[in-house]
Amino acid sequence: MKKLLKKISDFLSGPASPAGGFIEYRIKCGKCGESVTIKVFPDRDLNPTYDDDGPAYVLKKEVMDSKCFRMIQIEIFYDSSRREISREISGGTFEK
Ligand SMILES: [Zn+2]
Repeated sequence: MKKLLKKISDFLSGPASPAGGFIEYRIKCGKCGESVTIKVFPDRDLNPTYDDDGPAYVLKKEVMDSKCFRMIQIEIFYDSSRREISREISGGTFEK
């Protein structure tokens, strides 16, 4: 039990991130209506855009639902504080 507590505290002492570690997005397939939930970890999943005027970070992801296996492409943009600015999707819609 002591060992487990140690492990948890190691995990908690990692770098702080917004929204308690990850952001959850729920996506609905445009063809069959199946929902897919994805988790985005802002600390490691976002890519810098190197764009001085636009968003600071971007996340590009391809998501496949478990029913018709169609690819859904998402693109989400974030500011320099890793807060979401806008999002785009093709092949489905965002539920959350
Ligand atoms: Zn589908």
